[in-house]
Amino acid sequence: MPDNPVIIAGGGIGGLAAACGLAQKGIASVVLEQAATLGEIGAGIQIGPNAFHCFDYLGIGAQARAGAVYIDALRLMDAQTGRDITSIPLDDAFRARFKNPYAVVHRADLHRALLSYCENSVLIDLRTNHAVTGYSQDEKTATVQIRGHDDITGRVVIGAEGLRSPIRGQMIGDGEPRISGHTTYRSVIPTEQMPQDLRWNAATLWAGPKCHIVHYPLKGGKVYNLVVTYHRDMKEAVSGRPVSRDEVMQGFEHIAPVAQQIIRHGSDWKMWVLCDRDPISNWVDGRVALLGDSAHPMLQYFAQGACMAMEDAVCLSHCFSHFDSDTTALQEYQRMRLVRTARVQMNSRLIGEYIYHPADAQAAVRNHVMSGMTPEQWYDQLAWLYGSNGIEN
Ligand SMILES: Cc1cc2nc3c(=O)[nH]c(=O)nc-3n(C[C@H](O)[C@H](O)[C@H](O)COP(=O)(O)OP(=O)(O)OC[C@H]3O[C@@H](n4cnc5c(N)ncnc54)[C@H](O)[C@@H]3O)c2cc1C
Repeated sequence: MPDNPVIIAGGGIGGLAAACGLAQKGIASVVLEQAATLGEIGAGIQIGPNAFHCFDYLGIGAQARAGAVYIDALRLMDAQTGRDITSIPLDDAFRARFKNPYAVVHRADLHRALLSYCENSVLIDLRTNHAVTGYSQDEKTATVQIRGHDDITGRVVIGAEGLRSPIRGQMIGDGEPRISGHTTYRSVIPTEQMPQDLRWNAATLWAGPKCHIVHYPLKGGKVYNLVVTYHRDMKEAVSGRPVSRDEVMQGFEHIAPVAQQIIRHGSDWKMWVLCDRDPISNWVDGRVALLGDSAHPMLQYFAQGACMAMEDAVCLSHCFSHFDSDTTALQEYQRMRLVRTARVQMNSRLIGEYIYHPADAQAAVRNHVMSGMTPEQWYDQLAWLYGSNGIEN
């Protein structure tokens, strides 16, 4: 193990990105992952231009770009009428405005790009089967406790263990996450199984009362990623439980057949009940800080949770290379990240309610307002989100 490393709990996208960013600045880290192997479950993930800025900063630009599918548009459909509401072009004008593209990637490809950087870096020590249970600290060091292993001490501890982070539990003590009640079903199908008239090179959202469907191509267009969500008021958190197609179909009688058929084509469905937390105004305790979903778990409606985790990693490494004192670096990291991430958390809930799931008059207002917007107006609306890289807001 390197001398006096940064200790990172959690080897997801956020934890690995933090290790890459620190290594880019010559800073050693040890990553502790509870699972026996490092990997990602789930399928597709949307990547905004803000995350592309991060790829380059983290030293994985070429590999991350290689696995991406560059889609032509973000397309919004009315699931009840089956008609277009609006489409945001992701063409040259978009790229010129935000200095990078918008794309979709397979989670495993993104995780692999980060992991291969870590495996090839002498500054990063990766350890699996290491479940962190808590931390302690003194003036000069921070220590993690690990189930079944000796404690590990370093200069600081970064809690990147996701939604149910034990480090957050000890630092903030805000208990279990908020269960949104929204049930999400995910499937990946070969492109030949996707209805021919819907094989669009776009991230498409069909928005309907209390439900929505998202689909986009992955793996060079060989497969389609399907995500179907219904606000079933579920009271229990569920993660990755296999479910039948019939169960997924329940309650979708009110949407147009053109949208319903997408669900019929899915197979091997798995179900999640979505959780998030309220934003908090402090996630640093001396030599210990939170990152990614540990700090600001959000609903997926802005498709930005992983993007925000990578921005955190960029900002953290920037602060470590700009401040001599580790505790000052962590305070600055928090100061630079807090408002932006809270804004995405809060807006994710809002767009879930007013864009993804409204009915009747609220849906009519959505359609009226959004169908009248030009691409330039969309770009202006999204500039706060896509125009940053984790350091500049
Ligand atoms: C349906 C859905 C769709 C989404 N779509 C998008 C999208 O399009 N774009 C986007 O940017 N984001 C999206 N997200 C959000 C994104 O998946 C998360 O925000 C992101 O994965 C968070 O990364 P993380 O590393 O912070 O946490 P996690 O991915 O949760 O990783 C935490 C890691 O820590 C490990 N761990 C847990 N406990 C411990 C412990 N005690 N000790 C050590 N290790 C531990 C875990 O095994 C895991 O490897 C989506 C989320 C969902 C649910």
